[in-house]
Amino acid sequence: MKGEAERIISKAREEDRDFLLEPEAKRLCALYGLPVTRFEVAKSEDEAVEAARRIGFPIVLKVISPQVLHKSDVGGVILNLRDEEGIREAYRRIHENVKAKVPGATIEGILVQEMAPSSTEVIVGAIKDPTFGPTIMFGLGGIFVEILGDVSFRLVPIERVDAEEMIGEIKAYKILEGARGMPRADKEALIEILLKTSDMLMDIPEIKELDLNPIMVYERGAKIVDARVILEGG
Ligand code: ADP
Ligand code: MG
Repeated sequence: MKGEAERIISKAREEDRDFLLEPEAKRLCALYGLPVTRFEVAKSEDEAVEAARRIGFPIVLKVISPQVLHKSDVGGVILNLRDEEGIREAYRRIHENVKAKVPGATIEGILVQEMAPSSTEVIVGAIKDPTFGPTIMFGLGGIFVEILGDVSFRLVPIERVDAEEMIGEIKAYKILEGARGMPRADKEALIEILLKTSDMLMDIPEIKELDLNPIMVYERGAKIVDARVILEGG
């Protein structure tokens, strides 16, 4: 395992967490070459403004808190910020929202990140099968996975041909091909994401569950917008 990956996981353990915060999960993904949104962690309003200038507008701000796993449920995500005033206002609003909805939550910082243009959303996930070990999952975002259960699975490690099959075998595949005026999805970018995720899962047995959700996929390239990692117990 890469040294920095080990450090990220030991820090979570030291803090008695069995999950990674979004910046940790995205850093881990970046170590394996996965295309995450650019991000910085800000500890003050001024830092958030400076980070936003470095990253470039539009910007998304999110809460970083060990007590908040589903950030948008508690008003912890604010999208599409276009200037300094917007950043300052959203920075304060996230603190107010989270304090009101999760009393006692520790806010470790605010995640300042690039706003990925909206597009077709896909999901890459992983769970451990009790018998066979780590499995990787692929599907389209939103109702396709949540309501229709339209996903494909493979045991890891996977090879290129497996990644191609996983993408091709979901029922909604035609959407990725550009049916009904949808943008045609960059299949090569999705294959790369599946292969790199497989490498990461093979390399880090501590990952119990992974959720890259959503991933915006474009005609060229793709962007991982949210990443969640659950670690194996102690
Ligand atoms: P949650 O913890 O609630 O899952 P997310 O980080 O997934 O929070 O944010 C909620 C939603 O906001 C995402 O599903 C996505 O639609 C949108 N979103 C979040 N981050 C970005 C981003 N960087 N660019 C564009 N959209 C984003
Ligand atoms: Mg999410």
